[in-house]
Amino acid sequence: MLGCFAKDILPKELYEAFHRCLTKGIEHEVFNIQLSNPRNKIEYVRAQIKLRVKEQEVVGVIFTLSDITSITHTKKLLSNESERLRVMLNSIGDAVIATDNNAIINYMNPIAERLTGWHGEEAKGRHIEEVMKLVDATSNKTLVNPISVALKEQRIVAMALNSQLTGLDGRVYRVEDSAAPIRDVEGNIIGGIIVFHDVSESIAMAVKMSHLANHDLLTDLPNRVLLHDRVTHACKVASSMNKNVALMLIDIDHFKYLNDTLGHHQGDLIIKDVAKRLESLIDLNTTLARIGGDEFVILLPDVKSASVVDAIASDIINTMNEPFRIDSQEYTLSVSVGVSVNPADSTQAEEMMTHADAAMYRAKEQGRNRFCYYSDDLEYQFKQRQSVEKLLRNAIEQDKIEVFYQPKLELATRKIMGVEALVRLRDNDNKLISPLDFIPLAEETGLIHALGKSVLKQSCKAAKEWADKGHKIKVAVNIAAKQFTDGNFCNLVADTIEQAGLASELLELEVTESALMHDFDEIKVMLNKLADLGLTIAIDDFGTGYSSLSYLKLFPVDVLKIDQSFVRDMLNDTQSMDIVRTITSLAHTLNLQIVAEGIEEKQHLNSLIDLGCEFGQGYYFHKPMPKEEFDKLLG
Ligand code: C2E
Ligand code: MG
Ligand code: MG
Repeated sequence: MLGCFAKDILPKELYEAFHRCLTKGIEHEVFNIQLSNPRNKIEYVRAQIKLRVKEQEVVGVIFTLSDITSITHTKKLLSNESERLRVMLNSIGDAVIATDNNAIINYMNPIAERLTGWHGEEAKGRHIEEVMKLVDATSNKTLVNPISVALKEQRIVAMALNSQLTGLDGRVYRVEDSAAPIRDVEGNIIGGIIVFHDVSESIAMAVKMSHLANHDLLTDLPNRVLLHDRVTHACKVASSMNKNVALMLIDIDHFKYLNDTLGHHQGDLIIKDVAKRLESLIDLNTTLARIGGDEFVILLPDVKSASVVDAIASDIINTMNEPFRIDSQEYTLSVSVGVSVNPADSTQAEEMMTHADAAMYRAKEQGRNRFCYYSDDLEYQFKQRQSVEKLLRNAIEQDKIEVFYQPKLELATRKIMGVEALVRLRDNDNKLISPLDFIPLAEETGLIHALGKSVLKQSCKAAKEWADKGHKIKVAVNIAAKQFTDGNFCNLVADTIEQAGLASELLELEVTESALMHDFDEIKVMLNKLADLGLTIAIDDFGTGYSSLSYLKLFPVDVLKIDQSFVRDMLNDTQSMDIVRTITSLAHTLNLQIVAEGIEEKQHLNSLIDLGCEFGQGYYFHKPMPKEEFDKLLG
């Protein structure tokens, strides 16, 4: 090349640069140039031009060229790759956060920015736990970030199920995904990365789906599937805990006719109204389900007594008889209800359903607008309860509650000291019904308050009459547990005594042990108030209940009545004899009067006298009798 012109030898681009330096007098320049016509596969060249100047004259040029083709290619590749990565991370739908070895953030993509609420630049340099706050969605307990775990345990870590992310702005997201350590080519861990996404919507959707699968669309009540589950569960619990489950199948009478004549839209509105009315009758423990067009089911998982079922079933019938108003039109409806009770009918969920169904058909057959029990036995008992309740209501309303009196005697002298007032109710054939058959019902229905009031009033009046005739006969009135729950009971007693004009020491109240076994302090206050009125308090049927001696000292008790079962058995059964003996001596120690119930034979009387029991009552002396009869007895 010696002696040639630079212009002829150099590639065009290089010559132009060389020329520019010369003409502009640039003494030194370094630049990279891409050759348009590569020679020897040299595409990129790094050129250095240096003018040699002597006495301000350019005397020559040193031109150094290096081949940078392969370096340039590598650089380009690298930059393309990182750009591609950047674009990728920025455009994927998941959130990505990368950290260094110490879980300090060095990268965050836009989705991660959105979910955490942090700006990438602000988040950089902060610890992952500061930026990405995770808690357990149910317990709200803080969760350790998976990146921390991945870095510590050097493995890929899935995010805990149920993770919830709280963003900087306070918004919460249900998130799901995983974290992993990042390794360099040698496999050393150089950081961590977490990829996650928002699953709030899919979780909400799953919740909705499961709700839909278990609920009826129109009324949002549990459907057949959920009901079946609940009935099965209730039956299981019932059998292990000795509870009663009741299932009521409710079917709207002639609904098909209504639906056909009014149209399905109106029909739907009626169904919704029926659902609302049924819902208003039940509590939180009760399941109301819709299992078909016009069929509803009520599941009572813990029925305390049969009359509770009666009451709910009658409530259902009654509320449905109120007219329905739809689009300013009034409709009257009725329903037929079938009831099956576990374990009386069945202990199996499916069987309970078929029984309730059969009972519902029975109700339809009997003329609709009513309820029926599946079991004949329950149906019979229900009919009995129903008729007794009716008799009781009528007797109360018409003031026909009767009271019989059974004399109480001093055993040694056979002198009548007092009487026990015993309530009586008559059936339509004028036959007497035992209090044992209607007192529990009266308690369940609340009629006991009116009943008790009537007995108390008649008894006080009678005792006053006897006293006026010169007979100091103390009248003992039985008080049911339920009457004690009436906050006004003391006032009622005080008023009744006063109105009758009776000396309060001529009244005794008989309460059973079980009636006292409730709220200890409340009962104590109540009994003290009663005792302050001047009357006496007897514990009835003593020995059959808790027989906890402690309350005898704490409550103002005056009399113990030995239960008649012990008296009945004392002659043949040494245990009963021992109990009577123990109770008698206990009563004496505590300075209490003792009354033996159910004395039927002379031997009872003799033994009781031997044991030191002073008072008693029983058929041996007198049966309970109407007042007129007792009046005659007094003479
Ligand atoms: P109680 O208070 O233990 O009453 C005694 C019961 O034994 C009465 O039955 C009485 O008729 C019966 N009796 C008396 N002597 C004999 C006897 O020698 N042999 C036998 N076998 N029985 C005898 P009654 O009148 O049927 O009353 C049953 C229970 O009903 C009473 O037991 C009492 O717990 C309740 N009761 C009765 N009247 C009332 C009332 O006005 N209010 C409340 N709350 N309960 C009442
Ligand atoms: Mg009694
Ligand atoms: Mg008794």
